[in-house]
Amino acid sequence: MQQTMHLTQPYDSDTQDRIKSTPAGMAHWAGSGPENKTCRECKFMLKHGNFSTNAKKNAGRLKPVKCAKHESMMGGKGASFDPATSACRFFQQDPEPPSLVQSNWRA
Ligand code: SF4
Repeated sequence: MQQTMHLTQPYDSDTQDRIKSTPAGMAHWAGSGPENKTCRECKFMLKHGNFSTNAKKNAGRLKPVKCAKHESMMGGKGASFDPATSACRFFQQDPEPPSLVQSNWRA
């Protein structure tokens, strides 16, 4: 007797792509915000101006960040994620966003 498995994908391909590109800790889907904006430029990003000093990994680059919007919606602390992640629909422009790379960093 041949068995046939009728497995279904739980999400369509667009949703699967969104899930893959959205790190834990974001307030909504990555890329659902304004085009060419990242979390680094959003006023909800926490831990401004904290750069990595790890010589082997991302030295001089802005460390992973947390999202205040996510934390307010979820009632607690969220995961840290890459500040260069594409912005979500709750994006609000920070008038003075930090740079992604420390300006005076010497490798
Ligand atoms: S765009 Fe802003 S509100 Fe959305 S996840 Fe990034 S930091 Fe949070």
